[in-house]
Amino acid sequence: MAETKSPLSVLVLGIGDFFSRKYYHTSMVLLAEGRPIFVDCPDPLPKMLHEASRKSGINLSLSDVDNVILTHLHGDHANGLESLGFFSKFMRHKKPTLHTIPEAADVIWDNRLKASMGPLVDGDFVPCGEMCLEDFFRIRILKPGKWFNVSGVKIKIHYSKHFIPCFGFKAFFKGRRFGYSSDTVFDPAHIEFLSDCDLIIHETNKGGHTEYEKLLMLPEEIKQKMMLIHVRDDFNARTSKIRVAREGGLYQV
Ligand SMILES: [Zn+2]
Repeated sequence: MAETKSPLSVLVLGIGDFFSRKYYHTSMVLLAEGRPIFVDCPDPLPKMLHEASRKSGINLSLSDVDNVILTHLHGDHANGLESLGFFSKFMRHKKPTLHTIPEAADVIWDNRLKASMGPLVDGDFVPCGEMCLEDFFRIRILKPGKWFNVSGVKIKIHYSKHFIPCFGFKAFFKGRRFGYSSDTVFDPAHIEFLSDCDLIIHETNKGGHTEYEKLLMLPEEIKQKMMLIHVRDDFNARTSKIRVAREGGLYQV
């Protein structure tokens, strides 16, 4: 495993939007002295982990997924839950914890996972029962206004403005402070929430997302510690005045 200088670092797995032909869907892994906390769970997570591991020297696979901060239920952030759930239950025999908001926890099973993960059949494919969310995952509810401990890291959330309930968060660990917007329109209150972080990963896109031009108008001190993600395929990372995250990139917080 490669040495990381800061006690807190972030390994970026994907930087693309839902429609990308070039990139994986936006997701990352926080590493607190090497302990991984996954941020969102898109598909194809095993391949994303494999490729990010090769590029970064940080070896991660589905077997390392014990904690997932699940910011919302759009497919480009949550479609990997099925493979994670099946792998964890039937091959790893361990339940990952999904740390998320009540609005997501309340509907995640009935409205997203139950159709494919619910039915239980015997060796002859005869129905013999019904699985439930708790057969695959532990659920931990996050709420704004207080700190939560996730694998030794202090986490505080803030709701973003998005099409469905969604939150950004900041993560404090041993004096280092990381912030992530998740999906949001440009929202000064959201950026203010993240502004005391040493590294802020912020989304940019169009149509219900945060326009790059609006981020450019932020104070220099914020832009300098900001990194962009959730970009469109035609977004030019080379000419961007705010640096853009790289898939497989390992960043010290
Ligand atoms: Zn979304």
